[in-house]
Amino acid sequence: MTTELHDLSVAQLAAQLRAKTVSATEAAQHFLQRAEAHAGLGAFLATNAEATLMQARAADARIAAGDSAPLLGVPLAHKDIFVTTDFPTTAGSKMLDGYRSPFDSTVVSKIAGSGMVSLGKLNCDEFAMGSSNENSAFSAVKNPWDLSRVPGGSSGGSAAAVAARLTPAATGTDTGGSIRQPAAFCGITGIKPTYGRASRYGMVAFASSLDQAGPMARSAEDCALLLSAMCGPDLDRDSTSLDVPAEDFSRSLNDPLDGLRIGIPKEFFAEGLSADVRAAVDAALQEYKKLGAKLVPISLPRTELSIPVYYIIAPAEASSNLSRFDGVKFGHRATDYTDLLDMYKKTRAEGFGDEVKRRIMIGTYVLSHGYYDAYYLQAQKIRRMIADDFQQAFKSCDVIAGPVAPTVAWKLGEKSSDPVANYLADIFTLPASLAGLPGMSVPAGFGTGGMPVGLQLIGNYLQEAKLLNVAHRLQQATDWHAAKPEGI
Ligand code: GLN
Repeated sequence: MTTELHDLSVAQLAAQLRAKTVSATEAAQHFLQRAEAHAGLGAFLATNAEATLMQARAADARIAAGDSAPLLGVPLAHKDIFVTTDFPTTAGSKMLDGYRSPFDSTVVSKIAGSGMVSLGKLNCDEFAMGSSNENSAFSAVKNPWDLSRVPGGSSGGSAAAVAARLTPAATGTDTGGSIRQPAAFCGITGIKPTYGRASRYGMVAFASSLDQAGPMARSAEDCALLLSAMCGPDLDRDSTSLDVPAEDFSRSLNDPLDGLRIGIPKEFFAEGLSADVRAAVDAALQEYKKLGAKLVPISLPRTELSIPVYYIIAPAEASSNLSRFDGVKFGHRATDYTDLLDMYKKTRAEGFGDEVKRRIMIGTYVLSHGYYDAYYLQAQKIRRMIADDFQQAFKSCDVIAGPVAPTVAWKLGEKSSDPVANYLADIFTLPASLAGLPGMSVPAGFGTGGMPVGLQLIGNYLQEAKLLNVAHRLQQATDWHAAKPEGI
């Protein structure tokens, strides 16, 4: 077995598995060992070598029988928001500590059906609420590029694990940026598809009108392979699943970019964008010009409003979704209580962390009689306007580009006592989330402290193949995505 197995892309590893130069079992063992050796990163919350190796042996049997499915035998790991039968599911919360789901989420079972081998579950902010992974009830995750910095969130474990080559790929979820921002902070590639493309069935719910699953890997080529395996209608199980057939997102990766109109929203380059991120994003945009694309100035005038709008709608939905954690049906239950109400109160007081409680309170407030019209209803109206602004913008461009986040990854602890500072850092990812549009993060060089910068690409509805094409062409022309953290 080659010692460089973990440096192979998903596509390369799949080819080696098919050529039988490495077996799925060897690959799984190799990555499980790496996960153990780098346990200090805090990326994994659960592994189960027995279950992983059983999946690997099944993949080897399929390969031996001549099956040439494109992802067969390739390992990956799942954000601990997807329920799984082989591993516990915690959603990063004490509330679900030790919880074992009786079923697999649709995304997990689709990926398993493609023959991929699951290495385990990855750390995340509690119930996916956060931008730094510091809201995990279990441990913070360290950024492999600088262990004193955050990996981003909420899919911080996924991003760190991929960047540190503990897995060739991972799943993530994105409600307001949780695939794109950690991908940017850790120098990897991630895509959040159009809302409804991937089934939400079995994804622990945060804000149902925004939650969306997507892949995180080192390249757009790998993300395309994974996304093809994850998406597709699930109409019986997810009422917001789109009735759009599964697609081969790799089909147009190599299309030329001549004449592509890239919209540059002026609001994404305003005050507040740090100079290092701006310089890196500008350099990536210059590459696109060399590839034949045109940069078109556009405006997304309600960009700033996306923060208050999101931080009303997401907590409102969260307060409702999280009412199910009452100590009765699953998860944590307080041991000392006087009556039923006391049991509810103590269970929830003990089980939820500070950020989750904060959001439940905000959400309950904005939905309450007397405040509903003033906050929730207004937020819904502006959400629609934000979506309309994008449609206006797409009249003059094919894709939109800008930064993923205003800065590179910050230091652990730097913003952990200031929730508003965290919320403000979501400014560039929230608009596409509120509109339900596909968005991705593509490595675009380095900023302060040698930390990775992400270029955000936003497409119109169902334009994932276009986004992946635009990202892939950049990755063919540059090697930012191939850079590797020191000591990995
Ligand atoms: N940072 C945002 C939040 O805290 C987005 C999280 C997410 O996309 N899951 O809500």
